[in-house]
Amino acid sequence: MLWALFSDVHANEPALEAVLAAIESERPDRILCLGDLVGYGANPREVIDRVRDLGCETVVGNHDLAAVGRLDASCFNMYAREAVRWTAEQLRAEDREYLLSLPLVADAGPIAAVHGTRDDPEEFFYLQSTEHASELLEDQPLFLGACGHTHVPLTFLRVGDEVLATFAKNVDLRRCSRALVNVGSVGQPRDEDPRACFVLFDDDRRSLEIRRVEYDVESATRRIREAGLPQLLADRLWHGL
Ligand code: ZN
Repeated sequence: MLWALFSDVHANEPALEAVLAAIESERPDRILCLGDLVGYGANPREVIDRVRDLGCETVVGNHDLAAVGRLDASCFNMYAREAVRWTAEQLRAEDREYLLSLPLVADAGPIAAVHGTRDDPEEFFYLQSTEHASELLEDQPLFLGACGHTHVPLTFLRVGDEVLATFAKNVDLRRCSRALVNVGSVGQPRDEDPRACFVLFDDDRRSLEIRRVEYDVESATRRIREAGLPQLLADRLWHGL
């Protein structure tokens, strides 16, 4: 079975359209979304409509919860807080209802999905160390863990007693007993590669592929400026920061 996984769209409609076109051409059996549909970008309603219409398994992200008032945004930086305030004003009743309906975690086939980390999904911890990944892999009920949140694609593999981290674009999973992948970000990559990111997981071949897709950054940044959102949120998209 072929799975397509994406996360952190952050209301960037041009990036989402480019990723969904790339995903469609791969004809995956199933699609998973790891949350943060909104926040930062200028098209929250359009992105929610598109993801909802996909009908794919989707977990909720911290920016989604902040936009509907279910998460205190005071710990966000000032640009993110401004985006939360603006986003909350844009959402229609059905958008709020949809975001509130999304679970914090979801199990789909061999994949255990969460936006942050499974040890405390409501805390939205950033998975950034091999030590943390080791603990998570220890308790992971399914073969592949999938998350987003850091906007940096990265895979952890448990091989024997060891846990290894890799930034490789193609990852062979045949030797590992468990794996945990951060699928990067569609709408606001932060690994200095401005291209939109998604992941293909071939369950039969036991392989992962981190895919990057060019999209119309100019259009996304113009919309952010026209919406009156902070200029920095537009500028960073050019640099993948
Ligand atoms: Zn995010």
